[in-house]
Amino acid sequence: MKWFDYAAPVSVGEAVGLLTAHPSARLLAGGTDLLVQLRAGRKETDLVVDAKRIPELNVLHYDPAHGLTLGSAVPCYRIYKDKNVARAYPSLAEVASLIGGTQIQGRASIGGNLCNAAPSADSAPLLIALGATCRVAGPRGSRDVPVEEFCTAPGRTVLQPGELLVSIHLPPPAPHSGSRYLRFIPRNEMDIAVAGVGVEVILENGRFRSARVALAAVAPTPLYVREAGDSLAGSPVDEASIATAAEIARKNARPITDMRGTADYRGHLCGVLTRRALEAAVARARGGN
Ligand SMILES: Cc1cc2nc3c(=O)[nH]c(=O)nc-3n(C[C@H](O)[C@H](O)[C@H](O)COP(=O)(O)OP(=O)(O)OC[C@H]3O[C@@H](n4cnc5c(N)ncnc54)[C@H](O)[C@@H]3O)c2cc1C
Repeated sequence: MKWFDYAAPVSVGEAVGLLTAHPSARLLAGGTDLLVQLRAGRKETDLVVDAKRIPELNVLHYDPAHGLTLGSAVPCYRIYKDKNVARAYPSLAEVASLIGGTQIQGRASIGGNLCNAAPSADSAPLLIALGATCRVAGPRGSRDVPVEEFCTAPGRTVLQPGELLVSIHLPPPAPHSGSRYLRFIPRNEMDIAVAGVGVEVILENGRFRSARVALAAVAPTPLYVREAGDSLAGSPVDEASIATAAEIARKNARPITDMRGTADYRGHLCGVLTRRALEAAVARARGGN
């Protein structure tokens, strides 16, 4: 591993200043992607900027009127141990508890998962389904970006030089809503998703009021399949509506063939996982687990 300097700023402004002054600087949240990539020579830097002392990046705050503010560097274990998250966003607690194993969850953050911009990032489809937005800060102030627009290519995001992800905001859960993320991996805790699906549904009088569906690992970026959710809006909550949405998700997937699976197999998985995730989200919206 090449030598690099280390800084631990205590404010967003200080961090932005360091990132602006050092174009190759990298923010370190948990380091579970970054340190592996630096060691393997897949990334280089002359300065690592630690996020753990910046209060806004480590906040975890739930307010029933405004929703959840999740600092970008909050580690997964804090998320799934938080009682408000468990109650209001059980699917987020589930995602935080399936990223890596216990050791990884002690450091890894959802912000790092998004900023690493892997197509297979497990948190991204669920955050998209939940309608989350990213608060970005940089030399020209701050801006909000919907999660579905945050990743632009494998390993690339909308972040411009000097910018960092401060926090992720989730709206409060709507009444009669439910969400779920499901992925397929060959071996628990040891592999990345072959395909993943995040969904949220809102029910009203036996029908879907609205729904959102997003996919992992089947396109260059996490993929929001707006048409799949829109096909459910106003439809009865039944097998046929869910099958139609699952088929739309399957058709919208743009997977590649690699050592984890063929494109056909991944497309098939998208259909199956979308159906199962929607069924689970409906059960949750009806008061089940
Ligand atoms: C053994 C193992 C198992 C894993 N299992 C999974 C898994 O099941 N699912 C999964 O999705 N991933 C998995 N990962 C990958 C990794 O743990 C996750 O992507 C994790 O969420 C990354 O978070 P982090 O805080 O460690 O990010 P870091 O490594 O600190 O950062 C990742 C990248 O994002 C940048 N960055 C971080 N925070 C910010 C910010 N606030 N603003 C701007 N840039 C930022 C960094 O500079 C770096 O380029 C695994 C990794 C390992 C080593």
